[in-house]
Amino acid sequence: MMTCRKVYADIPFAHRQHQHAGHCAFIHGHNWSFAFTFGCHERDANGFVIDFGQCRFIRDEIERRFDHACVFATDDPLADAIVQSVPAAFKVYRVPNCSCEGLCAHLFAWVDPLVRDHTQGRVFLVGVEVSEDQRNSAAYFPDTARAGTAS
Ligand SMILES: [Zn+2]
Repeated sequence: MMTCRKVYADIPFAHRQHQHAGHCAFIHGHNWSFAFTFGCHERDANGFVIDFGQCRFIRDEIERRFDHACVFATDDPLADAIVQSVPAAFKVYRVPNCSCEGLCAHLFAWVDPLVRDHTQGRVFLVGVEVSEDQRNSAAYFPDTARAGTAS
């Protein structure tokens, strides 16, 4: 398998960890970065895993969902009340879990089929890293070997 890595940096959005006992429960923002590791078994005519110049569909979808959004967990009990207080003040995006780890899993779930679809199945997502700043990040690399789906 050959891999390449594409980083989308400085994506501003807010979130809150509603179950957190500390200050992470307050709405706050970061300049997030998403790093995608793509894989393939056959490179394209240019010798690339994926042509970064042809990845606009990923960037566009990231911007549509996350740019200047307030990201809430789907089970956040205050999200509706917060948003309904001043609806015009929020671009809302909901995910199962809005931690770095939760965002990794969420990104993997929709970017993997998206990139497979755009490359006729030639390219797949190997893993995702999410950084909320230069100090804190998480990564999700599914253990496909254990699941028996690696080739
Ligand atoms: Zn945070």
